[in-house]
Amino acid sequence: TPLFDTALAEAWIRSIAAAVEKEQDRLTELDSAIGDGDHGSNLRRGFDAALAALEGLQPTGPGAVLTRTGTTLISKVGGASGPLYGKAFRALGAALPEPAGPVALAEAMAAGLDAVRILGKAEPGDKTIVDAWTPAVAALRAAAAAGATLPEAAAAAADAAEQGARDTVPLRARKGRASYLGERSTGHQDPGATSTALLFRTLADVTGN
Ligand code: ADP
Ligand code: MG
Ligand code: MG
Repeated sequence: TPLFDTALAEAWIRSIAAAVEKEQDRLTELDSAIGDGDHGSNLRRGFDAALAALEGLQPTGPGAVLTRTGTTLISKVGGASGPLYGKAFRALGAALPEPAGPVALAEAMAAGLDAVRILGKAEPGDKTIVDAWTPAVAALRAAAAAGATLPEAAAAAADAAEQGARDTVPLRARKGRASYLGERSTGHQDPGATSTALLFRTLADVTGN
């Protein structure tokens, strides 16, 4: 049964970059409805740079791959999502032992979520990244505690993140640009929650699901 090692971490970042390229227009469309229409291009720029940053890197473990990715996102993405995802990947990388099984990965993802919440101060229900990341961590923890393999745990997390993203549709935004719309932010899926679901789906994909 696979563990989250350096090769998987690199494969994950490559898979995110590919998914962001494929979904760029959809993310931009979602952000056009309740934000400023740059979420797709922000993440495209960030993860293309993250990919380039891995080129010269001789990572000492999966954590180093993710820490470097976080640093790159912070430096390359101007929007709210850059510092939020950047801090998340840095915290995730710092928390990740090598190689990580489901329990360790769940705790590292929880550290990533904590970083998002400390920086952005969003609660679940505020229509943000937190609304997809929180159920993903809960699902990862539950699967890990039940003895799931890494692919099984990652698949459960991806399903939970996608459900969390869909569940943002009726919510009213209380953080970020979408909050300026007040009631008019309801009826649209949150772009950041949608990209978080992509992060967890690609994780499931590269672990073998
Ligand atoms: P910007 O809003 O600066 O243009 P992006 O479009 O890249 O940045 O990202 C917007 C997304 O960032 C939102 O859809 C939301 O999910 C997320 N976001 C914004 N503010 C916060 C926050 N305080 N906490 C968590 N996520 C947030
Ligand atoms: Mg935006
Ligand atoms: Mg912007």
